[in-house]
This record gives sequence, C-alpha cells and structure tokens, in this order.
Amino acid sequence: MTVDYGSLYIGGAWTRPSSEQRIEAYSAATEELLGSVPAGGPADIDAAVAAARRAFDDPNGWATWEPARRAAVLERFAAELVTRSAEMVRRVSAQNGMPIRFGKPVEGTVPVTMLRYYAELIQQLPTSEVRRSLVVGNTEVRREPLGVVGAIVPWNFPQTLAFFKIAPALAAGCTVVMKPSSETVLDAMLIAEAAAAAELPAGVLNIVPGSGRTAGAHLVAHPGVDKIAFTGSTDAGRAIAETCGRLLKPVTLELGGKSAALILDDADLSAVIPNLFAASLMNQGQSCYICTRILAPRSRYGEVVDALSDMVRALRIGDPLDRSTVIGPVASAGQREIIEGYIAKGKAEGGRITVGGGRPAGFDRGWFVEPTVFADVDNNSTVAREEIFGPVLAVIPFDDDADAVRQANDSPYGLGGTVWTSDVERGAALARRVQTGSIGVNGYTMDHGAPFGGVKDSGLGRELGPEGLAAYQQYKSIYLP
Ligand code: NAD
Repeated sequence: MTVDYGSLYIGGAWTRPSSEQRIEAYSAATEELLGSVPAGGPADIDAAVAAARRAFDDPNGWATWEPARRAAVLERFAAELVTRSAEMVRRVSAQNGMPIRFGKPVEGTVPVTMLRYYAELIQQLPTSEVRRSLVVGNTEVRREPLGVVGAIVPWNFPQTLAFFKIAPALAAGCTVVMKPSSETVLDAMLIAEAAAAAELPAGVLNIVPGSGRTAGAHLVAHPGVDKIAFTGSTDAGRAIAETCGRLLKPVTLELGGKSAALILDDADLSAVIPNLFAASLMNQGQSCYICTRILAPRSRYGEVVDALSDMVRALRIGDPLDRSTVIGPVASAGQREIIEGYIAKGKAEGGRITVGGGRPAGFDRGWFVEPTVFADVDNNSTVAREEIFGPVLAVIPFDDDADAVRQANDSPYGLGGTVWTSDVERGAALARRVQTGSIGVNGYTMDHGAPFGGVKDSGLGRELGPEGLAAYQQYKSIYLP
C-alpha cells in the first residue's frame, strides 16, 4: 500500500497544488513505489512565501510574541513529532536506506531535541539589553528575528537537518518555508501533519516539496524571503551563494566534506577500529562530516589497512528496516552510479581494493554497494580529494604528526575530522591544528549544543548551539536619551 498526499501544507492548511505534477518516492532496498506527493512549483512557493510573510509581518503575530508563548507552541510541536516518531523513522529508512538502528536515535530523536533545546534557549537568552552608550545616554541593543526563512534540505538526514533550521528559526520568531529533497518527501509530510496537529499559527511553517532545482532556486531568489538556510552539495551551495550575494540576502551553507581520520602512532587499534565505523561509514558514507580519508602512520600502515579491512568485511549488509543491519542500500540508482564511477576511477589510478569494490552478492534489488577500502592511495588521487558520498574509504600513509596535519589540511573541504591516540592531550593539540569546523578525539559525536559547520568549500556560517539561534536574529540598536 502506498502513502499518497493530494495537497501541500501552506498557510496552516492543506492546500491544492498549482499543478498535477507529482513526486514519487521509492524504496532504496526494493525499488518499489512507496508513495507520492504533489510537486510544488514556483506558484506554490509563491503561495508559501506569501503565507510566511503574512505570518511574520502580522503586528500581533509570531515574531512579536513573548519567547515563552512561542516556546509553548514548539513544545506542542515536539510532542506531536514524538507520537509520529516510529513512522517517521520507518519512512526515512525506507526512502534513503538509512539502517533503522541509526535512524531511531538520530532521525526519530534529534528533531524533538532541537525543538525543546531552542524553546528553552529562547527563554533564557535576553533578546534585548540596555547598555551604557560610549557617547551619550543609553542604547537598547535588540536581537530581532530575521524574517521569512527559506530552508532547503538534502535527503541523507532529512529530519535532523530540517530541524537544525526549523527549530532555531521558529524559536527566534522567524517564519519558514521548507523545501525537502525529492528523494525524501514522505517524511517531510509528517512534519506538516505534526505542525497542523500542534496548531502552529497559520503560515509559521510551510512545507513545499519540489522536484529538481526549480522550486529551491525560486525560493532562494524570492524577494519575500529574508534568509536562506541550505544543506546540500558544494556545487548547489555555490549557486545559491551567488544568488544570495547579488541580492545581499543572508545565507547559511552546510556543504560537502572529505574529512580525515588521523590515526597516530600510539593508537590502540583494537579500540580505534570498532569506533571508526561510526566516524567513517555511518549511513553508508552518506554523511557530510564523516572521515573518508584514513591517515595512517607509515610505520603501521599495513596493520591499519588489515584491521580496517577486517572490520569492513564483517559489516552486516541488509534491509535498512531490519534492526541488525549496519549497511543498507544507498539512496538512489543515480547515487550508486556515482559511487561505482569513483570506485572504477580509484582502481584506474592505481588504488588497491582490500575489501568490497562491487555490489554485494544476493541483493538483486535495491541500490546496494559493498563498503570498500582502498589502500596504496595518495592524498592527491581522485578518491582522496572528491566527496564520494558513499561507503568508500581511502587509507593514506603519513610520516609524522606534522605530515598528518599537512595532509589533513590539504583538501578543498573542512567539515569534520578525528584524531585517534592513547594520549588525549596530544590528540587535542593536533586537533587544534586541523582546518575544520569540528573534530573529535577518539570518536566523533556531534554536540548539538556546540556550533557545527564548515570552513573552505564545506560552507559558511554555523548551525546548532546558541550560535545556531543567532543565525536567525539580527541586531538593532536604539539610541535612547
Ligand atoms: P543537493 O545539493 O543535490 O541537494 C540538496 C537540496 O538542495 C535539495 O533539496 C535540492 O533539491 C536543492 N537544490 C539543489 N540545487 C539547488 C539550487 N541551485 N538552488 C536551490 N536548491 C537547490 O545535495 P544532496 O545530494 O541532496 O545531498 C548531499 C550533499 O549534501 C553532499 O554534498 C553532502 O556532503 C551535503 N551535506 C552537507 C551537510 C552539512 O551539514 N555540511 C549535511 C548533510 C549533507
């Protein structure tokens, strides 16, 4: 049985779409049709922006409410998401192949955590303070909501990444038009159902799926939108930044990555290797921050390659909805084609595959790719430089700590990273020298209370923490006598 929606959630109501076009969602594991939603086009984006604009500009509306009043609505919204959490996780995993054992603690939990965290924070942080002027009198410094936000989200963690934007934006008093990725539209409609059930005021949150780039590009360029929050590929981010630059529109960009795991010469491999899975292959490598370049000391190179290959060989591939699965299919046929292209290129450039490299036996349906390890790879090779967004790791040798840092930094990207060592101080000292937005010592667990984002081609601005709330506020100074 498929799940099919006939309308879009715009202006607090289920609204007839402007066209008959539809987006179909398919199972990554079986390639079967799961359901469909209307494909929002420019006219639907216009309607959603108009609704968000009305809600924001209302002189007694959302933006003007006391933080506690907005927080109460966000709490209700969180409660409605909780009741839909199991179905949410199931829809995400069925569409994008995320093993449900990871989907549950991430996609089923983080959105609720985000809403509650920002509901609390907006009540704690002063939105206005009076300072003694440096010249004469006093100045009231206000943090005001930025306005109507266009939020554009990818398919790899569609719920988590949506709420990295929706939660702080709504808490700050902004209103939102969210455009999910066309690969993950069914879970996005559950957000709309939860928002409707929680009785968010009309227009405060609008959800418009669109196929291809048209709807997103229309949202970015829309004169009624005051800020863009984007997560996705570096290429799309660059195009969006160009438009926002021309329009002088604030933009947050969370883009691609090719992060490095620095395994130091004193690391205890029996402790490192099991934990390296989450930092390097989680969600079939379809995670922006993960470490797909494994930097190993030349003196222990063979040992690292063998231990890593053994770990990867033992990973259980299967149906993402089965709790014992740790590697599911990748999200689409197109994504698998890209990954297989990179594997072929890695081989052609002289990389040695120690495990994987093809499609797993026994999976005739579904977009499965074997987790793959390349040894004898140089940091300049294609598989070490470009984001593959699949389960492919490259193991690269280094001479000493300075060389490890140099190679880690020799990348167009700077999003995540890890250092593995038996001396945490030494690891932290090295972590400080890596050009990146976030990095873990002996593991990588994203802290939602701390800013997250990238340097270089990995993006602009930060999400999460108080900094992630500030991204939806602007300062105003009122000079008082
Ligand atoms: P994508 O860039 O193809 O699409 C992302 C979203 O942007 C989709 O909703 C898409 O429809 C929309 N879009 C694409 N081009 C657009 C344009 N020109 N104007 C407006 N909207 C546009 O990315 P994807 O394949 O869905 O996701 C994978 C990418 O996302 C990877 O590069 C990954 O590293 C990145 N990512 C980054 C982070 C982070 O926090 N830095 C997190 C997750 C994913």
